[in-house]
Amino acid sequence: MDAEIIIVGAGLMGTSAALELSRRGHRVMVLEQFDAGHSRGSSHGPTRIFRFSNQDPIYVELALEGWRDWQRLERDLGAAVVEPTGGIDIGEGAALCAQALSECGVAFEELDATEISERFDLHVAADSYGIFQESTGVIAASKVVASQAHLASLAGAEFRYGVKVRSVSPGPNGVEVVVEDGSITAERAVVGAGAWTRQLAQTAKIELPLVVTKEQVAYFSIARDLPVIIDWNEPTHYLVPKRYEAAGIRVGLHHHGGEVDPDLGPFEPTDDGIEEVTSWLEGISGQKPGLIAGETCLYTNAPNEDFVFAQDGPLLVVSACSGHGFKFGPRMGRAAADLIEDKDPGLPARLIWRERPDDSTESDPATP
Ligand SMILES: Cc1cc2nc3c(=O)[nH]c(=O)nc-3n(C[C@H](O)[C@H](O)[C@H](O)COP(=O)(O)OP(=O)(O)OC[C@H]3O[C@@H](n4cnc5c(N)ncnc54)[C@H](O)[C@@H]3O)c2cc1C
Repeated sequence: MDAEIIIVGAGLMGTSAALELSRRGHRVMVLEQFDAGHSRGSSHGPTRIFRFSNQDPIYVELALEGWRDWQRLERDLGAAVVEPTGGIDIGEGAALCAQALSECGVAFEELDATEISERFDLHVAADSYGIFQESTGVIAASKVVASQAHLASLAGAEFRYGVKVRSVSPGPNGVEVVVEDGSITAERAVVGAGAWTRQLAQTAKIELPLVVTKEQVAYFSIARDLPVIIDWNEPTHYLVPKRYEAAGIRVGLHHHGGEVDPDLGPFEPTDDGIEEVTSWLEGISGQKPGLIAGETCLYTNAPNEDFVFAQDGPLLVVSACSGHGFKFGPRMGRAAADLIEDKDPGLPARLIWRERPDDSTESDPATP
């Protein structure tokens, strides 16, 4: 065997799994097609939203459980990577979040339009409903991915960048991983390939109904500090305050991008998308923001926006995205390590795909 455990992908999921498995003493090799810190996948950019709220109670529970994984990472790093800023949800979706939070016993404040505009100086419709949570905040996204890779290397993991995996084949004696110049064998393997998960899983005859979309964000300068904002009114907009090395506040549209081939693109931000978020920001803040830059990023969308753990013997395929996966990164890394060790990952059954689950329960649980 060339390796005990091979991990495909050095994004959030791959580095979370690599760190957890290395901490547990496993010999880990991570294969990444691009360079460290590339911006072609789903985990680049300075910031992401952290929050306990979600429209689906199972994700509220997972975020609560996952908080200790973030604390462990911060202890290991000796630095904070999640900064509470306070966060406000506005619109219909906020009521669904309130319901899920109540079900899980998580505190939040309910606000009407007057309270929203007086407290946060935001311009919202007169009949707006909102919820506020102190615990919502900002994750240092690209720093987390780099730090997890660094800690995993310190714990013995080997990272090989610029290595594209062509196929993965689970068998009775382990997994054969084919790369450009030959193949590598391992006792077990984890595929954390983000937007490329569906095509790589197909090489192992695992069919996953994942759809990749190109999503857009833009960075702005604005003369005041704002909380995290999720505006559920269609189309759904979100705002991430300026933290860590972000050039400005980050504003995006959720599930608004078209389907895209992760190898072919196009990957450039569009003027329409930038105009859309600029006018939303101007409307809600009542100020003319200064555009700094636009950026695109890929969502890997699963039915019900669920996270997917598909296992076939020694091979585990993980896709925790649908635009809301970052806040669960370290927790999902722990789940992947448990599954690789044939332990109970403590995940809701519907996230584990040994057979294709019934996805008739259509709902729209997630936002960033
Ligand atoms: C615009 C945007 C905003 C978001 N906002 C939030 C937010 O505010 N809060 C939140 O919680 N979540 C958010 N998310 C979701 C979160 O960022 C993702 O869920 C998470 O980054 C997914 O990580 P990943 O490891 O699955 O994918 P990636 O980071 O893309 O990692 C996959 C890696 O696998 C590599 N790879 C793929 N195929 C191969 C191969 N064949 N060989 C070798 N390497 C390969 C890729 O190059 C890539 O580096 C957002 C996502 C986007 C796009």
